[in-house]
Amino acid sequence: MPLRIQTDVASIEGILVRVLNTKSPPVGRCRLLSSGFSPAHALNITEDISGHKECLGCGNCVDICPVLLREPSRRDMTEQRTSMALESMVGEDCDQCGACVLACPQVDTTIKYYLVNRRMVEVMSRLEQRVGDDEPDLDLLLEEAMGQG
Ligand code: SF4
Ligand code: SF4
Repeated sequence: MPLRIQTDVASIEGILVRVLNTKSPPVGRCRLLSSGFSPAHALNITEDISGHKECLGCGNCVDICPVLLREPSRRDMTEQRTSMALESMVGEDCDQCGACVLACPQVDTTIKYYLVNRRMVEVMSRLEQRVGDDEPDLDLLLEEAMGQG
């Protein structure tokens, strides 16, 4: 897991704010702002990949994304489960909820804490407004999700 200890967010705050303010999936860029793979991160491989920042293809960000929950048909665009796939499937329709960043094992704890402590109130109020305007039909969502199986 990348840096589990807190570091000073000030050195990346300017660019981090720009990333989080952009209407596009932020997880890939937050991953690149992180420290990369650490020796304590267990993968069943022999090579040393310390500091490696690339996407692991774990699909956590794809699984957590609310845009894909609301519109599961977007998943038909690709079988890939990477941050690149997430960008293709969601693009500018991103809710900027930050869930993909929190779910990514390659993003530093510093960035996750920043998101939770400094951005969540704003995110929650924006999402609350959107849900209030356009409440999702849960039966329809379930039907679509079952249809995907
Ligand atoms: S999880 Fe949230 S921030 Fe990430 S791509 Fe989906 S809507 Fe955007
Ligand atoms: S959550 Fe997994 S698939 Fe998504 S960007 Fe991070 S490593 Fe890649």
